[in-house]
Amino acid sequence: MTDFLAYFERHLEDMLQDVERLVNMDTPSRNRALTNAALDFLVSRATSWMDAQIERHADAQLGDTLKIRIGNANKQVLVLGHVDTVWPEGEALRRPFRRDAECAYGPGIFDMKCGLVQGLYALRALDEQLQVPHQVCFIINTDEEITSPSSRKWIEEEAKRSSAVFVLEPALGAAGALKTARKGVGRFQLHVAGVAAHSGIDHVQGVSAIEEIARQILTVQRLTDYERGTTLNVGTLTGGTAVNIVPDQASAEIDVRVSTQYEAERITQQLMNLKPENQEASVSVTGGMIRPPMMRERTQRLFSEALEIGGSLGITLTEASTGGASDGCFTAALGVDTLDGLGAVGAGAHAYHEFVRICEIPRRAALLAELIFTQFTK
Ligand SMILES: [Zn+2]
Repeated sequence: MTDFLAYFERHLEDMLQDVERLVNMDTPSRNRALTNAALDFLVSRATSWMDAQIERHADAQLGDTLKIRIGNANKQVLVLGHVDTVWPEGEALRRPFRRDAECAYGPGIFDMKCGLVQGLYALRALDEQLQVPHQVCFIINTDEEITSPSSRKWIEEEAKRSSAVFVLEPALGAAGALKTARKGVGRFQLHVAGVAAHSGIDHVQGVSAIEEIARQILTVQRLTDYERGTTLNVGTLTGGTAVNIVPDQASAEIDVRVSTQYEAERITQQLMNLKPENQEASVSVTGGMIRPPMMRERTQRLFSEALEIGGSLGITLTEASTGGASDGCFTAALGVDTLDGLGAVGAGAHAYHEFVRICEIPRRAALLAELIFTQFTK
């Protein structure tokens, strides 16, 4: 076994400097210029170390999808990361990167800028030390937090040519569990149309869209089934125009999470078949599933390899399932073995207290490097 751990321990301060540079660059998903500038930085780091092939796929509105590739063997391993964060422009100025003896802090550090740097250094170490034929493609997208509308096709295209996919989303919980199952996600819009009328003069002529949507919402929420891992959340609600008008319009957005494809189809059908309780109102539903569930069957081979490698690195790995989706859902749905949660250890994704544990950085980078190494050497 190559001593990746020692390599990353030697490079820990360099890694932290790169994490600092990256965290201090704002990268909101919908800002093309800012996300592309962060990709420029990552490309400049990668090309200064390695003879890597760089490909960038531009999008008309969103940032590019970046591919960093090393090696040219037929067998490929795919690594997935995203540079975009949920934070707006100016966030890094308000609370820039900082660190103390144990942790490092800053917007997007845990989800997933530290993971990106771990991935980049893993590629660097492999490029220096992997002597057998190999090909590793590291995709870094800029639209993951908005469900990857532009990058999905590139991710799926590379996944189909890969024997394993490793996703650099943060590990879960204090123990840094890997993610071996993820829920599928659906987004639906519920629209209700009624008949407007003056609330004082013509109340009886009106058909209230708000009254109807209130009933519909109760039906939708009742589809939640915790035992099956199915949840529905009506997250936003709008309707009406003025307090003295019987409202003729109301709409709501529904977030759906499911553990299986069966549930994805069942819930989609139920929502699409919603009928008005008041026959004078009309109900329509748009939207659909946007990410398939990542089923545990697709992750078990890689998780048992990770367990073994973790043991040799002094990490007692556990596995966990999560309701959050990632780009790993796309690759697992294609039938490609996928393991997620291989990024940073810390807490506070999408929250102000977001942090990563510094001592875990070399170990998790080593776990990733070993996992990739194993795909080509076993
Ligand atoms: Zn993420």
